[in-house]
Amino acid sequence: MSERIEKTDEQWRSELTPEQYQVLRRKGTERAFTGAYEREKGTGTYRCAGCGQPLFSSGAKYDSGSGWPSFAEPVAADAVREHEDASHGMVRTEVTCSRCDGHLGHVFPDGPGPAGLRYCINSVSLDLERSE
Ligand code: FE
Repeated sequence: MSERIEKTDEQWRSELTPEQYQVLRRKGTERAFTGAYEREKGTGTYRCAGCGQPLFSSGAKYDSGSGWPSFAEPVAADAVREHEDASHGMVRTEVTCSRCDGHLGHVFPDGPGPAGLRYCINSVSLDLERSE
């Protein structure tokens, strides 16, 4: 894991777009089927839109039908952190960037890979670095 990034709320607010700020720093959720990467099939590395840390590989992306980009696993176990989230009357597992603590989405135990996980991630929290 690279060096942690810590900024004040005002710094984040000035550096991120309003949509990025609402999701990454306020734990918002983009509307289903509206995100830029929901149907993305390109190859490359999805980096954190807040700090640039590599988070997910296009090879782990799959179409879950949920309306959000879905990945079977992160690029590295320490790229993300997981936290219990009891908001909105549900118990879910929140996923954040380990470097800047930006909110990414949630992980659910209904994925297709060996680990059986579905990382359900907001497009606006990601920045695809294309490899072709
Ligand atoms: Fe980050």
